[in-house]
Amino acid sequence: MTVAVADQRGRPLGVLRLSLTARCNLACPYCLPDGEEPPGLLNLEQRLAVIGAAVSLGARSLRLTGGEPLLNPQLETLIAAAARWRRPEAGTGGALETGTGTGLAEIALTSNGALLSAERARALRLAGLDRLTLSLDGADGAAVAAMAGLAGGATAGEVLLAKVLAAIEHARAAGFDPAQGALKLNAVIQLGRNDDQLLPLAALARERGVELRLIEFMDVGNRNGWRPEAVLSAAEMVEAIGQRWPLDPLGRSAHGTARRWRYRDGGGAKGEGGGAHLAVVASVSEPFCGDCNRLRVTADGIAYTCLFAAPGSGLDLRPWLAPGTPPQALRQALADLWQQRTDRWSEERMAAWERGAGDEDHPAPAIPAHAEMAYLGG
Ligand code: SAM
Ligand code: SF4
Repeated sequence: MTVAVADQRGRPLGVLRLSLTARCNLACPYCLPDGEEPPGLLNLEQRLAVIGAAVSLGARSLRLTGGEPLLNPQLETLIAAAARWRRPEAGTGGALETGTGTGLAEIALTSNGALLSAERARALRLAGLDRLTLSLDGADGAAVAAMAGLAGGATAGEVLLAKVLAAIEHARAAGFDPAQGALKLNAVIQLGRNDDQLLPLAALARERGVELRLIEFMDVGNRNGWRPEAVLSAAEMVEAIGQRWPLDPLGRSAHGTARRWRYRDGGGAKGEGGGAHLAVVASVSEPFCGDCNRLRVTADGIAYTCLFAAPGSGLDLRPWLAPGTPPQALRQALADLWQQRTDRWSEERMAAWERGAGDEDHPAPAIPAHAEMAYLGG
């Protein structure tokens, strides 16, 4: 039975972002994953228990992430097993938008795509994955290598780029239709690093009929050298792309992270559907804490209610995942966590800036410690 919970600001629990590993086959400098897993990783049954508990509290969307989730050999098994919580009309997208019914309306995955063979894409689809978002931060070898932390320079970047472009086609062939929103591209943009990739990335996505989601460089983790000056705001990104290809605003859907735009020219060669759109995730410059409905659970079972949470501030769910513990206890622990939730870190950061932080009289607010992105799963 589903009993929806709301937090202290009236925000429902709608999305479970479940990280399947803290490891990654890349080393993007803006993320910098650990080379090793944390001790005490959850097993498949424990992950399913977490999904079941979150669904029973109202979660409608399961988003699988990492580290790199394709490194998890049980990924397809997990997706297939999660089908037990699906609502009857799931997978169409409509149920998610209307917010009707209970159970999972969608299962989605974010991946860097390097390991997505044609076979793996088919297996994921067959298991029941609805949506796939692939990450790619550049359209040439040098940019890709720099953003993915590859030692081999432009040549290594060309190899990775070719793999991700092939992954897009494998995903499309497996049935992830970009025109239905089932296949998208994520790109993190850092000022002075890859802001010259905006137009090439938009062109690449338009040519392939895929929606490009541009993400502001975020202050997640403590190793990526984040500073406000390295953030290219979503407004600036949209301005730059709109000058080349005029855009019409579509807005942000309730509880969504992305503000979307439609290309006025229809979006290039395969532009009907996904490629006709551009999206920006502006969690730094335009915080959307007000309707954030995401619960994050790390690969080792720590629950966080904010992407910008301090390390060690999450709730360790493992005591409730021990053999013999009734599912009701885990459900209650998550319900209590959600009902106590007050997080609005991005809004607080913005408020501090608006108070005039950054000049001599108002020094910039100290950047508190954050849990690492590859640990939290983005
Ligand atoms: N490895 C997978 C990938 O890269 O898609 C999934 C995990 S990754 C942590 C999820 C998303 O977070 C990716 O799209 C990545 O680009 C984004 N990301 C990581 N660090 C970020 C940062 N500091 N600012 C903004 N986005 C970030
Ligand atoms: Fe790996 Fe994704 Fe982090 Fe890049 S963003 S290092 S691909 S987890």
